[in-house]
Amino acid sequence: MANFETVEVNTDVLILGGGMAACGAAVETAYWAKENGLKVTLVDKAAMDRSGAVAMGLSAINQYVDVCGGKNTIKDYVDYVRNDLMGITREDLVANIARHVDSTVHLFEKWGLPIWTDADGNYVHEGRWQLMINGESYKVIVAEAAKNAVGNDNIYERVFIVEPLVKDGKCVGAVGFSVRENKFYVFKAKATIATMGGAVHVFKPRSSGEGLGRSWYPPFNSGASAYFTIRAGAEMTCQEVRFIPVRFKDAYGPVGAWFLLFKSRATNGLGESYMETRRPELENWKPYGLVKPVPANLRNWLMMLDVMEGKGPIFMRTEEAIANLSKQVPDEKERKKKLRELESEAWEDFLDMTISQAILWAATNTAPEEKPSEIAACEPYFIGSHSGASGAWVSGPEDIAPEGYFWGYNNMTTVEGLFAAGDASGASSHKFSSGSHAEGRIAGKAAVAYAVDHADAPSIDNAKIEEIKKKILMPLDIFEEHKKLSSDPDINPNYIRPKMFMFRLQKIMDEYAGGVSTSFTTSKQLLEKGLELIDFLKEDAEKLAAEDLHELMRCWENVHRTWQAEAHVRTILFREETRWPGYYFRADFPKMKDDWHAFANCVWHPDKNEWEMIKRDVKHVYAEAADHELLGG
Ligand SMILES: Cc1cc2nc3c(=O)[nH]c(=O)nc-3n(C[C@H](O)[C@H](O)[C@H](O)COP(=O)(O)OP(=O)(O)OC[C@H]3O[C@@H](n4cnc5c(N)ncnc54)[C@H](O)[C@@H]3O)c2cc1C
Repeated sequence: MANFETVEVNTDVLILGGGMAACGAAVETAYWAKENGLKVTLVDKAAMDRSGAVAMGLSAINQYVDVCGGKNTIKDYVDYVRNDLMGITREDLVANIARHVDSTVHLFEKWGLPIWTDADGNYVHEGRWQLMINGESYKVIVAEAAKNAVGNDNIYERVFIVEPLVKDGKCVGAVGFSVRENKFYVFKAKATIATMGGAVHVFKPRSSGEGLGRSWYPPFNSGASAYFTIRAGAEMTCQEVRFIPVRFKDAYGPVGAWFLLFKSRATNGLGESYMETRRPELENWKPYGLVKPVPANLRNWLMMLDVMEGKGPIFMRTEEAIANLSKQVPDEKERKKKLRELESEAWEDFLDMTISQAILWAATNTAPEEKPSEIAACEPYFIGSHSGASGAWVSGPEDIAPEGYFWGYNNMTTVEGLFAAGDASGASSHKFSSGSHAEGRIAGKAAVAYAVDHADAPSIDNAKIEEIKKKILMPLDIFEEHKKLSSDPDINPNYIRPKMFMFRLQKIMDEYAGGVSTSFTTSKQLLEKGLELIDFLKEDAEKLAAEDLHELMRCWENVHRTWQAEAHVRTILFREETRWPGYYFRADFPKMKDDWHAFANCVWHPDKNEWEMIKRDVKHVYAEAADHELLGG
């Protein structure tokens, strides 16, 4: 076995990940831990300053409810999320985040994040719920507060978490390895919070060949949260609810500012607006098809219908939007000034968060005020915090959760001692960066309470740890043993390298689970065949080979993706209807069905190595409670 030092860290609360939810968990946990004399430890596979989906920065905070300003009620937000997710949402979780999110945004501002204000000092809104920010350093600012709270000595960066430690059905920590030095880490904890983001590159991306590596979702998040919670035996929810954003084509630049701030239209190659010409189609998806705003997946769907009829390319009419906005200024000199302002805002929007889109514009001589730019549906991603919903099934808050939705501690999964937030917790979409931070705070406080109530130090058999260590480091041994057997180290009868493994997974998902090349369409027969191929792939995962530490991380990232993929395929198969046609289409069940107004959950039983599928009721409870009660009077 490769020579690795084992480092054991004992802690009370363990935070896995260093992204938005983890940073929220860090500040809150550190506060309550100090009150109770507990230790907090945080582990990130990357460096917190620039890790996770907010790494490059963002140009807007997408969830700000402004309850105290009287602009919206919490119920407004819950209604919006429920409708966007076609009725399938945990209203208790959404309301809990919505009642805490504004204070999170105020903390960001206090820590130094520049939020745009108008001449009267009011926040500038991009849309009803979104605030414009100068967000290039968003993550650096939020991470700084988290690091100060937890303390650098308790933070482990560049440590990749692989597996949960489970004893008697309870999560007692996690194991992983350093991606920089030969160290194997064993973290033993009374309470563990999974906040390792969502998953990308499970499906074949549109960008392949010279564009490989480009995607909307950041390449750093590869299904660790899903794998961790599934392998711990946690019940999972909404595993079928992938997210397919429509973004600027090829460089995946954001469209929010164009649609919401610049009031731009999207038209097909014939100049028709699919949101108008295809409007009658929305009747087929009532009641959600008739609400405002039209749910994200249905907007996708109307566009996809045009594309499938050969009416592409689809364009964002940037030139039209800029012309419309500048012509509202009557004075010619002022109009020119306004035009320059709009142009620079357009570029800044990309430079704040998707620099490559600005580079693509420059490379293709695109002046947004002169010509439109193509937009397209991306490949599917798993991001429960955005417009997808996949994640663990977690306990709601005691004061709002209906029967069956609360089991002792906020955001605890169905596994004792294991909490989840952000992309790691499911059925509570549209929390975005701010809501993920707020949810991290909620989970952090609950995890401290759990650690106080369950004060026994966790123990786990050393022999068991040695066994896991051997398994995790195995790809290094396999490579060493067999690398000389062929002249090209990529081609070897004894092993598969992680990149090739990933290509195989992506091909399976693309062709059988409704990826880009099948226009997001699938069926029972395709899904069953896909599952058979995933089974073979899982067998071959035992032959993954790694030349170095970096490749060892790649190996495990792909194992994580494979489990996310399997949960996805099984759940699409289980839900015998089409509910989100712009995310995936079941050709054999092309309509939405009343009896599927329910959650499709799944659990993998570690003791039996078996999956169980569970249908759970959607309980619309929130409408009963008034905002002042939710805010604590
Ligand atoms: C392209 C894009 C644009 C977005 N735009 C906006 C926007 O404009 N406004 C907005 O409010 N929100 C936006 N969001 C949403 C927002 O970024 C997410 O909701 C938020 O980051 C989710 O927080 P999280 O903590 O769950 O995941 P992340 O912030 O992604 O953090 C995940 C963390 O887990 C770590 N990690 C992953 N795997 C492992 C492992 N195996 N071991 C240890 N650590 C691991 C990562 O390094 C990272 O620190 C956008 C998201 C994307 C992808």
